[in-house]
Amino acid sequence: MYMVTSHSVEQALLRDKKVAIIGVGALGSVIAQHLVRLGVGKLRLIDRDIVEMSNLGRQVLFTEDDALNQLPKAVAAKSRLQAINSSVDITACVEDANPHTIEMLVQDCDLIMDGTDNLRTRFLINDVSVKFNIPWIYGGAIASRGVVGCFIPSRTPCLRCLFHEPDELHGQTCDTIGVLGPLVHVVGSCQALIAYQLLTGHIEACQPVLKHIDLWHHDVDELPRVFNPQCPCCQNKEYHFLEQVAKEPVIAQLCGRNSIQVTPQQPVHVPFETWINRWKQLGEVKQTPFYVQLYYHGYRIVIFKDGRLLLEGLSDPEQAKQLYAKLIGT
Ligand SMILES: [Zn+2]
Repeated sequence: MYMVTSHSVEQALLRDKKVAIIGVGALGSVIAQHLVRLGVGKLRLIDRDIVEMSNLGRQVLFTEDDALNQLPKAVAAKSRLQAINSSVDITACVEDANPHTIEMLVQDCDLIMDGTDNLRTRFLINDVSVKFNIPWIYGGAIASRGVVGCFIPSRTPCLRCLFHEPDELHGQTCDTIGVLGPLVHVVGSCQALIAYQLLTGHIEACQPVLKHIDLWHHDVDELPRVFNPQCPCCQNKEYHFLEQVAKEPVIAQLCGRNSIQVTPQQPVHVPFETWINRWKQLGEVKQTPFYVQLYYHGYRIVIFKDGRLLLEGLSDPEQAKQLYAKLIGT
């Protein structure tokens, strides 16, 4: 049993640590709130999305005003967290974590927290974790079932010791079957607990297991993990997900929304004025410090500084490709 007697040593250790949270949605909000209240020194919030009314049921850092003002999640979360603890140095990154960006986003951090909603990004996190020797804490929540595990390079098996490809896990996402609201608090809190243990030097408390939780049936299982001697990542140091080169823009459906993200093969840093001048002939255009948006034939189109496009109001990837080609001109 861990006795909470004196926080002073732990507090000093936490103040000295920098943590990246990738994905500040349902799980990321819970994790961030814990870390800020615990008093971690620096926090980097990385999220590619904008707050919507439909997020408010499970994403505890956001309000109706954030959705009405169409704030990026990282920016809205930073504001809320800073009001909880102004001494934490918080950076908001309105970015997609992809092979071009993830090294720059996390390589100076002591720990990476998984708040993502997709398996491909988790394999990318696993690659960058092993390459830069940074632990990461996995969390997943689907329906009433959650999974939590910590991956510590050299000390525990990595994600690819367990699964070779993202497709080997399962095809269900929170988009297809939803998530029980209280589950994200349980999973996010378990992740935050492991973060606390790691950051305060209690590494022996972090077991190489995957904790499976079925909240509906009050059931918890711990499945042991073992090293795969043929693991391409932690044994052979092959970082297939980091080294992936996209031959065309990458289309991704966003979890729980009628929206698609299109990411160019390479970041495209075009001044916002270019898009404003090009798009003002097509419909109503609005500029914010973070993006430019266009209402076009019933769709809401948002372009970020790195050339990433959010297409709201459609779910057909082919239609998204056509719109991208028409609006971006590639
Ligand atoms: Zn491995």
